[in-house]
Amino acid sequence: MSQETKTTERHQDTDEQILPYKHILLATDFSAHARRAGQRARELADKYQARLSLVHVFDDFVLYDEFYEPVAEERFALQQTLHDAAEQHLATLADEIGIEDPADVQLLVGAPKATILAHAEEHDVDLIIVGSHGRRGLARLLGSVASGIVNAAPCDVLTVRL
Ligand code: AMP
Repeated sequence: MSQETKTTERHQDTDEQILPYKHILLATDFSAHARRAGQRARELADKYQARLSLVHVFDDFVLYDEFYEPVAEERFALQQTLHDAAEQHLATLADEIGIEDPADVQLLVGAPKATILAHAEEHDVDLIIVGSHGRRGLARLLGSVASGIVNAAPCDVLTVRL
């Protein structure tokens, strides 16, 4: 490889390192960590003049009776209540961090890690922001959703601590 080619490659590497973020995705479970992540997301979106979008993944679940049979009716009622609450929380957080376009605020359904990753890929997200922990305790170095995203994301990931 000639000296000229090497120099060109080094320049490209340098250029890649300084590309500004264009689309930042904040994934929230409405925990204290995630709220703080929201403040950081807004700050970075302003700094990079980036689009900021917000998702919460509604974890689908099954309720069982004492015979371990799935209970349909109670489940639907409870799911609807939780779904409505999640929608309300999302709207409040979007308002707090100044996301105005409803298309940038989405309530998704599925398994959190896989759903957030698929959404990020589909929408050309170049930075995912999550709290280092969520609602499931602080025992681990990183929460399971957070570490799953760090390990598998197609882009940069920022985990925000309290
Ligand atoms: P965890 O890994 O569950 O401790 O959560 C860490 C972070 O992942 C949270 O602070 C959120 O930013 C994100 N997160 C966890 N669960 C969800 C979810 N259901 N929807 C969107 N983001 C989530």
